[in-house]
Amino acid sequence: MTSETFSNFGGNQWFQPNVVYRPRDEAELLEIMGRSRGRAIRVVGRLHSWSEAAVGNDVVIDLRGLCDVSLEQHEGRVWVTASCGCQIKTLQAVLGPAGLTVPSLGLINEQSIAGAISTGTHGSGRPSMSNFIDEVRVAVYDASGVPVIRTIGGGDELRAARCSLGAMGVIVSVGFWARAAYRVEEHFRQYENLDRVLAKEEEYPLQQFFLMPWWWKYIAQHRRETAEPRSWWASLYRLYVFLQLDVGLHLLVWFVARLLRSATVARFAYKYVTPCMVIKNWRVVDDADQQLVMEHELFQHIECEMFVVRSRLRESLEIVVQLLKHFDGEREALADSTRDALRRLNLMEDVEANCGMYTHHYPICVRRVLPDDTLISMAAGNAEACYAISFISYERRGDRAAFMAFSRVVCRLLGDLFGARPHWGKVCPLTADEVERLYPAVQTFRDTCGEIDRAGVFRNEWIERVVFGKSS
Ligand SMILES: Cc1cc2nc3c(=O)[nH]c(=O)nc-3n(C[C@H](O)[C@H](O)[C@H](O)COP(=O)(O)OP(=O)(O)OC[C@H]3O[C@@H](n4cnc5c(N)ncnc54)[C@H](O)[C@@H]3O)c2cc1C
Repeated sequence: MTSETFSNFGGNQWFQPNVVYRPRDEAELLEIMGRSRGRAIRVVGRLHSWSEAAVGNDVVIDLRGLCDVSLEQHEGRVWVTASCGCQIKTLQAVLGPAGLTVPSLGLINEQSIAGAISTGTHGSGRPSMSNFIDEVRVAVYDASGVPVIRTIGGGDELRAARCSLGAMGVIVSVGFWARAAYRVEEHFRQYENLDRVLAKEEEYPLQQFFLMPWWWKYIAQHRRETAEPRSWWASLYRLYVFLQLDVGLHLLVWFVARLLRSATVARFAYKYVTPCMVIKNWRVVDDADQQLVMEHELFQHIECEMFVVRSRLRESLEIVVQLLKHFDGEREALADSTRDALRRLNLMEDVEANCGMYTHHYPICVRRVLPDDTLISMAAGNAEACYAISFISYERRGDRAAFMAFSRVVCRLLGDLFGARPHWGKVCPLTADEVERLYPAVQTFRDTCGEIDRAGVFRNEWIERVVFGKSS
């Protein structure tokens, strides 16, 4: 065993693999794989996943040394080949000066491109990043056990490789079409109810919105592409976003959740203080690369995110509010139908035991994710758009038991009632039975992985159990 211990961003996953490699190029990677034949291999990206997706106990390969980006012109379009370890922000830095950008972005740009697509990383108003990948080069073993690089460019293999949780082999590079850089207009507005927020979607297709806990009103971040020039006050706006929202608001959350640990103060802050920290109706146009990301990685936290189709969004949010109130101590918050469902799923005991144990202390972000052409990303195979409902906790590592219980309950309950799927890269308490029911294409995914990786060496215990349904 090495003495090297890995931990993820959230500090909730720790592992000490038997051996760690950091190859600097593809030839060295193949040579390492040759030496590791028959052993379980896991590649880590930037370890921003909260789930067990990146956990590896035998051979762990860290590919951040592979970070080249190349651009090729093809009939007026630009084809990008990015090595797996390249961070999204590096990609943006290369594409930006050429007047280009990536087709889809999450809230941060710290992830490696291979890690980001492997869990279906998404933003709002578009499909996930996985959906836009048209070529994946993977290092795998051939029929005689020799490591080779294989190019995947279509069919079910591509749909599997676009979001594969590392189970299709070692991704060495991905290829996609860049899109021309564009600008986004944004402003915040406050709403009393969900219908009014959703009604604005046509006007602001890239919008995301926040259900403010304990105030139970919505703040929408209206966004749309625009041909207008960058606002002259955009730099001032960036400073405001950084100081007031990225730092100020998050310091308040951190202080309330970690230091004060007071439910009363948390409820007061969300009802009266945080809504005032957001300036409403200030319209600002800025480059999409600036406007769509935030510095969400400044403070350690943990997150669970549920994807539900549009037609079940309202009911899902109603149940979320009931559960949050109950976890905060309001016993009568649960509707009879919710209690019945919790009893049927044997969750009532867990819910009762945690009544009064957890006060939610972060805006519940809701983002629209359009259908993905993949096999198992969270937005795969849906005819309608999904909404990703996010639950973030800033509690200390040792104080997260009730949040984890909440995540388990919300995952099982919304999964059962509305077919909701948890994000693969966030707290993901799925069971094999649930995966079977929630992902109609999971068998095709398993078969496709099995053809490429007959011995199953590119799976960890969690993926083997949850995705491949094998008990250890
Ligand atoms: C602060 C923060 C904000 C976030 N915001 C968003 C967001 O807005 N939207 C969203 O959808 N998600 C978001 N996430 C989740 C994050 O995008 C995903 O968890 C993503 O997978 C992390 O990428 P990574 O490079 O850290 O990969 P890791 O977490 O290290 O790995 C993720 C998976 O990719 C596999 N992998 C990595 N590299 C390779 C490779 N070369 N070959 C094969 N498999 C590989 C790993 O084995 C693992 O299964 C956020 C996470 C954090 C911490």
